Amino acid sequence: MIPRVKGTDDILPPESARWRALLRGFDDLAARYGYDLAVMPVLESTELFSRGVGAGTDVVEKQMYTFEDQGGRSVTLRPEFTAGIVRAYLESGGTGVMKLAAAGPQFRYEQPQKGRRRQFYQVDLECVGDPDSRADVEIIEMSHRLLTELGVPGVTLQLNSIGDAADRSQYRDLLRDYLRGVAGELSPDSRRRIDDNPLRVLDSKADAALVAAAPVPLDHLGPETAAHFAAVRAGLEEAGIAYEIAPRLVRGLDYYNRTVFEFYSTAFEAAQSALGGGGRYDPLAELVGSRVPVAGVGVALGCDRIVAAMPEPAPPRLDLFVAVATPVRSGAAGAWVRSLRASGHRVDWTGGDRSLKAQFKAADRSGAAVVAIVGDEWDAGQVRLKRLATGEEAAVDIEEVGAWLNR
Ligand code: AMP
Repeated sequence: MIPRVKGTDDILPPESARWRALLRGFDDLAARYGYDLAVMPVLESTELFSRGVGAGTDVVEKQMYTFEDQGGRSVTLRPEFTAGIVRAYLESGGTGVMKLAAAGPQFRYEQPQKGRRRQFYQVDLECVGDPDSRADVEIIEMSHRLLTELGVPGVTLQLNSIGDAADRSQYRDLLRDYLRGVAGELSPDSRRRIDDNPLRVLDSKADAALVAAAPVPLDHLGPETAAHFAAVRAGLEEAGIAYEIAPRLVRGLDYYNRTVFEFYSTAFEAAQSALGGGGRYDPLAELVGSRVPVAGVGVALGCDRIVAAMPEPAPPRLDLFVAVATPVRSGAAGAWVRSLRASGHRVDWTGGDRSLKAQFKAADRSGAAVVAIVGDEWDAGQVRLKRLATGEEAAVDIEEVGAWLNR
């Protein structure tokens, strides 16, 4: 027995039914808002993340799966989608607005625990090329809608603006002064960050008490950034989406500016409760080599955590399980199963060559809503149907079965 690698999961039935519901819900939502599918490489140049996400971030410093390939290139299993999507936009000669939806695994070398895996999954929405606050609102609205439609309980939204580079240069000095004043009491990680990345100290859990009194970016926004943030807030209010202002929310990556946000659920303990997060990343394109600025805003939602918060039970996997009482009819039953599947019904059967008892067992295991028994009524153009949840039974004309299932 060779076990799975630490921090990875096998996602099998019945749990995988909820994953399917999540991925289908996401696909449907993206289509409703005009987001097209992006299928992205898992492997990227290491430099994309060290420059895009930032060399001083936890993700790049401590968590990447980086190795040299046989051609001597340094490559990395992607730890996130955004940098790759902006790279793809630029590489495709992108101009204008591109609205993209992506789903798939990410890799971060973290200490595995509940809700924290080394291979985990995200669904991701990116609106590349749009500086307007309406794009921020749309991304947040879509995230909120997905979580709500999937039935995730107690969804809350934390919102902040961290300003633009110009706002931040002054603010950063203020923050540094404050942090230097309390440096002796800060954790070693935070002390190390005072000079290169003081903003990151704001979301340090270890220093929460000291950080509570630090100046926050929101109080130091320039007029343009402040107007952008006011427009985002007004848009969310118009969409009926409640939020809390979280002045110390900065998110760990270097490419963010202006709006940042995170979604939480009351289904989890605080530490591991972020279901997803995102924000505006206008500086990112230039960080990864674009000569012109390209605005953008996006969100990544953690599938593993969404699925853990989604309610049971999953909808029945199959509409119908077909059991054949008399083997001589299995040829006709096979053709009937094929025609039901062709017309869009979710149908399974064993092939009809097992005992009726074995077929009923398989029907039970299959999670089908209804079992059809192909037996003596077949010659009169009927099958016997049994709805498993209620025990309701009826002899139904073969042509009427589709309608009966849809009831
Ligand atoms: P981040 O951009 O790092 O905030 O990631 C966005 C979302 O992905 C988080 O809110 C989590 O739901 C999920 N996520 C991030 N890292 C992990 C991990 N190691 N294991 C499981 N989910 C994760």
